[in-house]
Amino acid sequence: MDPRERLEADRAETQARLAALLEDHAGVVAASRDSNADDEHDPEGQTIAFERSQTAALAHQARRHLHEVDAALARVADGSYGRCEVCGEPVPPGRLDARPTARTCIAHA
Ligand SMILES: [Zn+2]
Repeated sequence: MDPRERLEADRAETQARLAALLEDHAGVVAASRDSNADDEHDPEGQTIAFERSQTAALAHQARRHLHEVDAALARVADGSYGRCEVCGEPVPPGRLDARPTARTCIAHA
């Protein structure tokens, strides 16, 4: 597959995931407000706090991935995509298949 197409698809998918997570997050925050839970003493409040931090961590991950995808798309645009940042050698196609945002060859990973 064309790297740009693959990255665009990854980008769309990540954005959808992020939107779903933020929606979840909004729902959890609203639920915790409704239950008027005390996070420290109410067991249900603790569950909500956990879900909230999990969701926040996943959203953070999705955002970071989005940055990587954007950086990879910029490299496609300037022609440096698929070359190792360290040695300038081509990154093996198998590695790019597994990790389309890879910036380095296996030796420099
Ligand atoms: Zn290298």
